[in-house]
Amino acid sequence: MAEFKTDRILVRFGELSNKGKNRNLFVRQLIQNLKYQLSNYPDIRYRNQFDRIMIELNGADSDEVLERARHVFGIRSLSPVVVTEMDFDLISEACLELMKQEKVGTFKVEANRKDKKLNFKSNDLNLRVAKTILSETEHRVDVHNPDIRIRIDVDAEKASIAVKTVLGAQGFPIGVGGKALLLLSGGIDSPVAGYYTMKRGVEIECIHFAAPPYTTIQALDKVKQLTEHLSVYQPRIKLHIVPFTDIQLEIYKKAHPAYTVILMRRAMVKIAEQVMLRNNMLALVTGESLGQVASQTLQSMSCIQDAVDELILRPLLTFDKNEIIDVSKKINTYETSILPFEDCCTIFSVSNPITKPKLKIVLLEEAKCEIDGLIEDALTKIETSEIRYQQETYL
Ligand code: ATP
Ligand code: MG
Repeated sequence: MAEFKTDRILVRFGELSNKGKNRNLFVRQLIQNLKYQLSNYPDIRYRNQFDRIMIELNGADSDEVLERARHVFGIRSLSPVVVTEMDFDLISEACLELMKQEKVGTFKVEANRKDKKLNFKSNDLNLRVAKTILSETEHRVDVHNPDIRIRIDVDAEKASIAVKTVLGAQGFPIGVGGKALLLLSGGIDSPVAGYYTMKRGVEIECIHFAAPPYTTIQALDKVKQLTEHLSVYQPRIKLHIVPFTDIQLEIYKKAHPAYTVILMRRAMVKIAEQVMLRNNMLALVTGESLGQVASQTLQSMSCIQDAVDELILRPLLTFDKNEIIDVSKKINTYETSILPFEDCCTIFSVSNPITKPKLKIVLLEEAKCEIDGLIEDALTKIETSEIRYQQETYL
């Protein structure tokens, strides 16, 4: 019996099909992102077929390629495609082999003649393939609502057969929405906020505030690991580490304890805003979720937003914690996030933070501290590195 292996992968677009004039831009970005994610496979070719992209594997391992492509945003679904000679026997045999690998259920064959001059009707091929599968397997036909659609595109020489459909990462291709700066702590929420930001087509850089020696090198490692997990979606991510100790000490020394958390947050977004502007980014992103802790009430968030002119995005604003945890498990950040290394907020935490701060009082408390100079100083001491996707870690 002939052996059939996957020669191509068919990529179907998600929402971007609806984008009118921007469509070309989207498709170009998607192909660029695919090329980038699959740069370890130099022989792969990409064909833009208007409403879909065909990845020609040219020998690359189809399972590996599928696994990588599954993480590229902007793709609705993917199908491995087997190419055979245009021959009813061969096509039927290939379909049978592919269907034997699928869970027993219902199917429909959908042949499509690219070349209408072919001397048979699509339905002749449908019937022939269905007959083979029915006689050799337990699968049944359902033309209205099949579990599996067997799609066969034929021309005079070749047939492409797609049986399996894998769900893509959805969303928009990273890069079509500009770039934003993610405030990445070591917690559960911020990596999930980063994931959702990238999913909508926005490239990210990350910024982390560290308070050595109160926070350890392990806490920093944790943040690097989280960034690495996010690099599955965006293969290169810049990570800015800000030394934050002096600012925190100043705040904790001078301000009323109930206001320290909010003042610290204000200092964080002020620094992040400068980094954002210097690197042509368009917004800040945090993992804040309404009501989760004292600093995440509407009153607190207004006082934080007041510290900057630029946009602060909060993708998780309306999420429940258990919903966030579910996503963090799905994107593999959960296990790293719950490692027990304290970050700067846990170490300097106070027992009674104010939940409904008034901006007037926040500003008075802030005026007691001399932080402007310390912010300038911290900005000059930022350490930036680039985290790159490590294929070996994830395959
Ligand atoms: P997370 O799970 O993301 O840490 P959290 O529920 O613990 O969030 P907070 O600690 O109040 O909430 O932080 C709110 C947001 O502020 C975080 O989601 C993150 O975006 C940002 N943030 C907090 N601490 C840091 C830090 N040390 N470095 C960078 N960003 C931070
Ligand atoms: Mg936190």
